[in-house]
Amino acid sequence: MNGCGETRSASRSATSPPPRDSIVRGIADALLAVLLAPACASCGASLTSPTRGPVCRACWDAIPYFVPPLCARCGGQLPSWRVISVSSSTCARCRRRPSLLSECRAIGPYEGSLRGIVQALKYQGCRSLAGGLGLRLRDAAEDLLGRADIAVPVPLHSARQRSRGFNQAAELASQLGLPVVAALVRTRATPSQTDLPAARRHANVRGAFALRRRHAVRGLRVVVVDDVTTTGATLEACARVLIDAGATSVSAVTAARAVIRRLE
Ligand SMILES: [Zn+2]
Ligand SMILES: [Zn+2]
Repeated sequence: MNGCGETRSASRSATSPPPRDSIVRGIADALLAVLLAPACASCGASLTSPTRGPVCRACWDAIPYFVPPLCARCGGQLPSWRVISVSSSTCARCRRRPSLLSECRAIGPYEGSLRGIVQALKYQGCRSLAGGLGLRLRDAAEDLLGRADIAVPVPLHSARQRSRGFNQAAELASQLGLPVVAALVRTRATPSQTDLPAARRHANVRGAFALRRRHAVRGLRVVVVDDVTTTGATLEACARVLIDAGATSVSAVTAARAVIRRLE
């Protein structure tokens, strides 16, 4: 069991259809709420329907979404005036920096309840949350996913995966309706990107990934999947390996995208 009361093999989706007998569910919810008093893994409020997953409905409903106009490259939100005043629909940061990634999409900014839900998936072991996040990511990235052949999760270093028990990127990838291919391996443990200033993140992950020999990506359109991106350094490092291995194109989807306001 983990912090969410899920077993390591649990993968029930927060959005899975309710059982036929909603009365039974209602009784189970009432009993669980009284006996265990479970708290929402995102906001900490008491769960009134714990059988529907470890995050409350209010948190799911409060997810901040990116809404068009979006940067054609990174998927970040553009000021609405930019579409009519600038010929290119890419953000200032993407115009400054070349990228190996053809396009990227995320559900929304790494803020509010989306941050809480991603952190509950990642740090509290709430694997079932990948279901609800995956559903929303499919909506946010429908076009991009339609242009991809396979989904490749960003790998964890083996030591980190052993201690966590799962890879949150692989959990998300399995929800996207594409064949999931664990084509990459992390060849060295790297300090968490979130602990580093933006300027050091590219160096931190350079050379940290390699292709698993038995997986061929030649001639395929690959979408790399991760939970959060900030500078894109990890996604770029993965794209480098996949393109060198012959992938036709590499795009990326993440549940959330940290908005670097000082660079926009
Ligand atoms: Zn909540
Ligand atoms: Zn951009």
